[in-house]
Amino acid sequence: MSCLFCKIARAEIETDYLYENEHVLAFHDIHPQAPQHILIIPRRHIASLNDLGPDTSYLIGEMALAAKTLAGEMGFAESGYRILMNCNDDGGQTVYHIHLHLLGGRRMHWPPG
Ligand code: 5GP
Ligand code: ZN
Repeated sequence: MSCLFCKIARAEIETDYLYENEHVLAFHDIHPQAPQHILIIPRRHIASLNDLGPDTSYLIGEMALAAKTLAGEMGFAESGYRILMNCNDDGGQTVYHIHLHLLGGRRMHWPPG
């Protein structure tokens, strides 16, 4: 399979993991939109949120736990941060392997663009 994030998950592309367990892993976004911009992905390939099912929904919880753990370790849990997932074209999704964006280290704006 030619999925970029599957390759990262299988360590076929050298990547520093900031967090990993049997279900999910995290690494720096290559084009950071905040002082801290981390991507959290499931090891298992799921193309978009539309493809999530009852058998895989626990992975969203695993990603959220990874996000709050990283925010704490990186020192911005108290000041605040944002997690988000883009879905399909209008949502701004460009990599079709679900991922949670974790953004921290600056004040976020609302509404997002
Ligand atoms: P999306 O637009 O699908 O929500 O987010 C995809 C994210 O993946 C983007 O923020 C983009 O910068 C990031 N990205 C794309 N290619 C790579 C890559 O090869 N390595 C890493 N670490 N991030 C990538
Ligand atoms: Zn994949």
